[in-house]
Amino acid sequence: MAKRDILIIPDKRLRMKSEPVKPTDPAVRALVEDMFETMYDAPGIGLAAIQIGVPQRVVTMDLAKKDEPKEPQVFINPEITWASDERAIYEEGCLSIPEYYEEVERPKMVKVKYLDLEGKEHEVEADGLLATCLQHEIDHINGILFIDHISKLKREMVMKKFKKAAKRGDTTRAAYQDDTPEHHLG
Ligand SMILES: [Zn+2]
Repeated sequence: MAKRDILIIPDKRLRMKSEPVKPTDPAVRALVEDMFETMYDAPGIGLAAIQIGVPQRVVTMDLAKKDEPKEPQVFINPEITWASDERAIYEEGCLSIPEYYEEVERPKMVKVKYLDLEGKEHEVEADGLLATCLQHEIDHINGILFIDHISKLKREMVMKKFKKAAKRGDTTRAAYQDDTPEHHLG
């Protein structure tokens, strides 16, 4: 296992559309292990493979609270099959946009179809934090960031800030410090 660097905006790879994978491929298992190590270290509660520069439709997640046992979850080739008309607002943050948080409105509930590492198909009906986190991660594998769901003015302000930081040479998360996992949906 190895911890990998997490890409931050304005890295263009974050805008790539990821490709489906074969879950039983040993390379996918190795990728998932690296993703968990990277996600727990960050710390964050979710991670999409593209955030470590791998354009594959693989998502890791752990929504367990700090004092609870770990609950690692893997979603291979996840796909939203249904979304509720009812909407919910959650203050989102992203490991690829460090120390920036903004309220995002999304469908409150979603159904998501995905494969596990054995290649078995599952469908989960998600609500609350799981629904928000799954939508945030599935956006990532489609090249979409949570700032795409906020006002253009706010998005341009945050992009400008990170472009300036990139010019200064701050292109990794090392320049930022936020140790609260719940602040980083993925
Ligand atoms: Zn994210």
